Amino acid sequence: MLTRPSPAVADSLADLLQRARAARDASSLTEGRDLAERAWALAQQSGSDDERAEAGHLLCLFNYRLGSLATLLAVGDQVLPVLTAPERRSIRIDLLRWMTLAGCETGRFDGALNHANEACALAQDSGDQRQLALSLTALGACFERMGDPWQAERLMDDALRVAREVGDPFAQLVTLNNLCAVCVGAFYVLRGGDEPAEATAALRRALVHAREAHSLVAQFDDPFFSVFVEGNLGEVLLHLGKEHEARRLLDAALQRGLEHGFQAQIWRIRCSICELLLSQGQAQQAHAALKDLLRDMAGADPRSTLIRVHHALYRASRDLGRVGEALAHFEQHDKLERRRATNQLKAQSELFVTRVEAEYVRQQAERARREAQLERSRAAGFQADAQRDQLTGLGNRRHLDHRLPLLLDRARSQGLPLTVALIDLDHFKQINDRFGHATGDKVLIEMAQELRENTRSSDVLARIGGEEFLIVFADMPGPQAVEVCERLRRRVAEQDWDAVASGLHVTLSVGLAHAPPYDMATLFDAADRAMYRAKQGGRNRIAVA
Ligand code: GH3
Ligand code: MG
Ligand code: MG
Repeated sequence: MLTRPSPAVADSLADLLQRARAARDASSLTEGRDLAERAWALAQQSGSDDERAEAGHLLCLFNYRLGSLATLLAVGDQVLPVLTAPERRSIRIDLLRWMTLAGCETGRFDGALNHANEACALAQDSGDQRQLALSLTALGACFERMGDPWQAERLMDDALRVAREVGDPFAQLVTLNNLCAVCVGAFYVLRGGDEPAEATAALRRALVHAREAHSLVAQFDDPFFSVFVEGNLGEVLLHLGKEHEARRLLDAALQRGLEHGFQAQIWRIRCSICELLLSQGQAQQAHAALKDLLRDMAGADPRSTLIRVHHALYRASRDLGRVGEALAHFEQHDKLERRRATNQLKAQSELFVTRVEAEYVRQQAERARREAQLERSRAAGFQADAQRDQLTGLGNRRHLDHRLPLLLDRARSQGLPLTVALIDLDHFKQINDRFGHATGDKVLIEMAQELRENTRSSDVLARIGGEEFLIVFADMPGPQAVEVCERLRRRVAEQDWDAVASGLHVTLSVGLAHAPPYDMATLFDAADRAMYRAKQGGRNRIAVA
């Protein structure tokens, strides 16, 4: 039984971190996770920003490599807010990539796509080609798990090109490894269908990637990747009928995986070995081993392995003449596949929105640069105050009167769309009455921040009245502007306002109007009337003129 150290001999945070780092370098994952867990707990109480960031990053790394994917996702959500400073961008991208892979492995595709998109945008923004290659690979993995290995392969081919261009062997290795998995995934989709040549071609591509990865991995002395790569190569060879070489690789990989406790890898490799037994006609042995595997995996996350295990058990039971059992596994397999297909559809419908979000991330960075520039020009004596709302820092009515005609002129001459969104907080008077004017002010400040965070730097924001705001979306198609406003509405309504005042809820109504006509008075009038309808319709909603 473990005894807890007394406070007098409790490990210092620096010491825990140092030992966790050593455990990482030695691939001692369980020990490392224990150390990182304690470091993370301690860092949250008394650590510096750097210590918190490192402890969180390590804890996530260990969980990822141990295959504790649900834990990784839960901890990752707590760690991400610690990794916002620009100097931590690279480790933020690491974490986003792991969370992407964990998310798609556990069927949470929309979260995974969000993380992948943010990772790509951050990498692109900072010009970090290595991280860009790795993030594109993670994005590709989302598509693969969502059942589109072709899109995945395209993204990863791009990633491989970038990795080769920067000459980064690690990024090449990771990408090749994933490309191999993708091609094997394509093979699983195609096998047994009416295009056997296509299925074999996918396997051949997988083999090329797996062999190159295998030749690269030796230089890293990294057991995790060795096991990963050997497991992949073994899996490919097995399906190509090269059973002897496959068995040798799979046994070696399993051995090493067990030494280090790489759980997710161990399960995959065990499944491959069972499939190998099946193709050698040893159904009895395969059946027993698969049952063991299924028991060991109980309650675990890796869906794609679970799908394979049920499929193999179906084959084994069928070969043994156990029709009922075969049917049961076939149904389980089918159920998991169906769930994956449903999640895939849902995630694809979210895809448009997440792309818009990735664009926001990029543009927020641009906005930060612009604000810095604005700060400089203000220092040089520029008088922006006359057009600025004192409370929220947004533009005021005068600002709008200055900017909007210019935008309308441009839109008219180029034939571009333009949308104005009039936003009015619901029952704001009651908020003032119930929580006080100071709280009302905080709500307005918070609202301005929401507006900044949910729009592009090219959109114009203004506070044009007490609790009325206006957004001008220049050069954005109407439906997309509606989508942005809808998300803003939802975020405000679902936000936890308790931090501002206990029991506080805030909602808003939006009236939208599109140009043409490119006339300010007409647009305002139309937006105003739409707003009236939104209020009449029950508030907390959007109406379009
Ligand atoms: P509705 O849902 O119909 O929009 O109801 P409402 O109460 O939001 O609308 P109404 O126009 O009746 O009330 C707006 C209130 O906003 C009244 C005013 O006291 C408050 N207000 C205006 N400017 C400020 C400000 O700068 N700070 C605070 N705290 N309140 C303000
Ligand atoms: Mg009002
Ligand atoms: Mg109001």
